[in-house]
Amino acid sequence: MNYNADVLDNSFLDLTDLFRSEDFTVDFDREISLEEIDLSKEFEIPVNIKGTVKNSLGIISFKAQIKGIHKCICARCAEDIKLLIESKIDTLITLSESKDDSVSIENGTVDLAKTAYDALSLEIPMVVLCDESCKGLCPKCGINLNNHQCNCV
Ligand SMILES: [Zn+2]
Ligand SMILES: [Zn+2]
Repeated sequence: MNYNADVLDNSFLDLTDLFRSEDFTVDFDREISLEEIDLSKEFEIPVNIKGTVKNSLGIISFKAQIKGIHKCICARCAEDIKLLIESKIDTLITLSESKDDSVSIENGTVDLAKTAYDALSLEIPMVVLCDESCKGLCPKCGINLNNHQCNCV
């Protein structure tokens, strides 16, 4: 999918007003890029993060759903794979931190890109295969045995 980077949303969520008021709700639904983050795991643009932050008598809950396409290769045949990864966050936060480190927050501003990246990364399987029955590569000639046959023994 071609995505015009100009239409990407701001990946910072300013909660300054929410922290000032004891009865305040902020909804968000954003298409963001995770490319700015030091990437060992690659995600397609955009990644969607949506949710609700609620200040109820000073107790601030942060809920979010995150969806992204992870780009990787099959562990057996090295074919490119695009894998839909979804994650959820449901936690309490303060001005500077979340209860369980799942939300990246500083001075009342949430870094949604960092938060989404961390959440999605946790959901990526250890081993990704293009298909359960992937035949992999021939250990001798390196041909992809899903599409070809070789004469190696
Ligand atoms: Zn494969
Ligand atoms: Zn072979």
